[in-house]
Formats: sequence, C-alpha cells, structure tokens
Amino acid sequence: MGELVHRDLLEESVEELYEHAPAGYFSTLADGKIVKANATLLAWLGYERDDLVGRRRLHDLLPPGARIYYETHYAPLLQMQGSVSEIALELLRADGSRLPVLLNSTLVRDESGQPRVIRTTVVDASDRRRYERELLRARAEAESRARAALALDHVVEGVVLIGENGTIDVLNPAAEAILRVNAAVVIGKPATEAIAGWEAVAGIRVGRAGELPAPDLVPLLRGDSEAWLSVAAVAAGDGTVYTLRDVTAERDLDRVRSDIIAIVSHELRTPLTGVYGAAQTLLARFESFDDATRRSFLELIVGQSERLGKIVEQMLLASTLDADAVQTELGDFDAATVFDTVLQNVEASERGRIIVTVEPAVTVRADLDGLRQVIANLVDNALKYSAGPVRLATEAREVAVRFTVADEGPGIASTDRERVFERFVRLDPDQSGGVGGTGLGLYIARELVQRMGGRIGLLPRERGATFYVDVPRSY
Ligand code: ADP
Repeated sequence: MGELVHRDLLEESVEELYEHAPAGYFSTLADGKIVKANATLLAWLGYERDDLVGRRRLHDLLPPGARIYYETHYAPLLQMQGSVSEIALELLRADGSRLPVLLNSTLVRDESGQPRVIRTTVVDASDRRRYERELLRARAEAESRARAALALDHVVEGVVLIGENGTIDVLNPAAEAILRVNAAVVIGKPATEAIAGWEAVAGIRVGRAGELPAPDLVPLLRGDSEAWLSVAAVAAGDGTVYTLRDVTAERDLDRVRSDIIAIVSHELRTPLTGVYGAAQTLLARFESFDDATRRSFLELIVGQSERLGKIVEQMLLASTLDADAVQTELGDFDAATVFDTVLQNVEASERGRIIVTVEPAVTVRADLDGLRQVIANLVDNALKYSAGPVRLATEAREVAVRFTVADEGPGIASTDRERVFERFVRLDPDQSGGVGGTGLGLYIARELVQRMGGRIGLLPRERGATFYVDVPRSY
C-alpha cells in the first residue's frame, strides 16, 4: 500500500513539477507556434493559458532586437547542434514590459529526422541582470576609488584621515614627508602616539563636512628643528580629514624679512644719529666753534654719511645678486693691480697696518671691479675686527692665483667658518665689540667670487683670521 501512495504522489508531482517548477517551460513547433507552456511561465509573462498556447508564436514574445538575434543565431545554432543553452534574451510580457531571461532549448526530431518540437526552459534572469549591473557598478566604483587613491598618492599636500577613535586610517606620501613618519608603521596607531606633536594639530577647529575652513598655523617639533604646518581639518563621516602643508620655508623667509628690517633700521639709525647730532650741534653753536672744530664736525658728518651710503649700497647689491641680475665682466689683468685701489681707499690712519707681498707678473682672469670689491671688503673686516697688522699677499698656483688677507685679531672659530658667508650672519650681533656691520659683506663677496668661477674661504689658523680668494690664472 505504501508503494501505491508513493507512486500516486510521484505521478501527481511530475505534473506539479512541470507546472509549478521554479523555471518556465514551453514547447514550440518548427514554425514557432507555442504548443505547451507551464504555469510558472504564464505567471511570469502575465498570460492566461488560452491567450498563449496554440495562439501565439515565440516571435510574438520577442522584442525586435531579440527577434533578429533569434533568427540569426538562436535558430541556426539549434538546427546545427540540436540544443542551445544559456542564451540571454528578453521576453515581452502581456503588459508590454520586458522580462530578462536565460533560455535553454532542445530540438526534438521525429523518426525521419524532421524537427518536431523545440522544448525550452526559461530562467528568470532579472536577479542576475541586477547582479551583473551591481557588479559593473561595483567595478566602476572600485576603479574610481583606485584613481582617487592614485590622486591621493600624488597630491602635494599631506592628507591624513583620523578615525573616530583617534587612530590613523589614511596617511598619504606627502604627509609621510611632512611629518617624517612611515605610513606602514603608523597606520592603525593612535595619532597622538605615532606622531610627535600631533596634539597641536588635533587641537585646531574642525570644519563641518563640505566646509572650506581657513587653515591654522601649527608648530611641530621635527627632529631637533621646528617645522610650521598650515593645517585645515574637516569632519568626514565618523572621522576627520587633515590637510597639511609645510610652510616652514615661507615662515623662515618671513623671519629673514623681519631680520632685514631690524638690521637695516638698526644699522641705519646709528650713523643717522651721528649725522643728525653733529649737524644740529654745528648749527646751534656754529658761531662759537673755531674752524678746526667745525671741520671735525663736518668730517664726522661726511664719514657717517659714507657709512650710510655703504649700507644702502650693500643692501642693493645683495638684492641684485639674489635676483641674479649682476653681470660679471671677465678680463685678464696683473694680480698686483687688485691691491692698488684697495689700498687707496683705506683710511690714511689705517694704511700703516697693512703689509703687502705680491708675486710679480702673474695674470688672472676675473672681473676686476668685483675682485677689488671682494678684497676691499676682506681688508675692511680685518681692520675692523683686529688691531694688529693686516697682511695682503698673492700666490701664483698652477691653475689659480690665491689672494690672502690675514689679520691677528680674534679669528673665526672653525664651526663658524662656513656660516659667516651666509646672509646677515654676524658673530657678534649685539655689537658688543662696538663694530657695526650688516652681515652682508662676506655673503656678497662669496656670490661675486663664485660668479667669476673662483672660490673664497677661510684658512685654518691658530691666530687671527686668514681669508683666501682663488681666481683662475691666465697665461
Ligand atoms: P659685517 O658687516 O658684520 O662685517 P660680514 O659679512 O663682512 O658682515 O662678516 C660677517 C661676520 O663675520 C662679522 O660680523 C664678523 O663677526 C665675522 N668676521 C668677518 N671678518 C672677520 C675677521 N677678519 N675677524 C673676525 N671676525 C670676522
């Protein structure tokens, strides 16, 4: 008995399975007429059985594009192979809308080999289409994200994304360079632990998403020097995006500018006070002074005015050198002639301190005016910073001629031997030695000598300072 029930169920369920299977089934004759269709397909397409079966042909269910495809590919393939599978098409529903499907067909032939019927299964591919569209969208998005990451890798500003819990989620290469950290090491770590001084950055106001907040200037200790960062922060999702720019150089430049103003005003004020004071005194007491006193006041005025002029000239020359607007004119001349005018311009009272040794008949190729200016500056410094004798010499070498200016003053410590050639560097900036200067003389000298293809520097000496200038020798 059990077996009987089983068979009943089985027979019933075969029919059931055909009608209500999770796939559509239909059969067509060779001319395309639909002769059988299951309930699933009818439900999908929205047809009553009688509207479809025996009345319509497969063509009627195909939109124009699919119809052509059916004629040119589907049908011939079926003829040739006896079956086709997984053909993606669209079927027209009764209401005119389209159902994306995958079709699998088998051609059944009669005994004489003539096509009798085509059995087709229909798989609803709407989900699959959706899946494919989603796949395409996801791929496009992934590609766009990859491009975004590429942009982030090459943007010149540092970009750091800090997560809700304060950890570093993203840190681009520019941020690595600015913060001197290795992304591979710090990502995932709390920013305040991984980046020294991050507290200051994290302390700035965070703009709302979409806002363009004005950046803040934040100091950051980097190694043993201080860096200045221009930082803007914007809320992004549950984190914060920080944009960083290293503005240390700009700030240094600003400092140099304010240094220039401080130095120039100080340096100009001293002689100006002298000139003004002497002129006022002379004016107030002109009648009561004798000629010699008047003369000494006038001399003071002339001397200080000259100093004023020199400072202004140095400033101008330094700025034209910076702008690379100085022309050097190279010529051949006897090395000894360089010292002549230099000596003429030294004050008579100081001239006695100078001892000159020259090698006769040595020719150099240089800019005569420039070289004289350089040597004059070195002689000036030697007289200014020392009290003893100042020795000038030329020494002919194989390819160069060396000019030296040596004094017996305090000298320059080996650690300062390069520094003194930098702009505005004065080893005694407070002028406790009572000697004025702008710190531009040696900077100008080096710039000029380099433009002649020569070299200037300090020789190591136990006593005093010995400056040398090498310029190309000419034969
Ligand atoms: P300044 O106008 O201050 O003389 P320079 O550029 O000519 O500027 O020199 C820079 C600094 O180098 C000076 O301020 C001084 O401290 C130091 N210096 C230059 N020449 C000598 C020297 N012969 N002896 C000692 N110190 C010197």
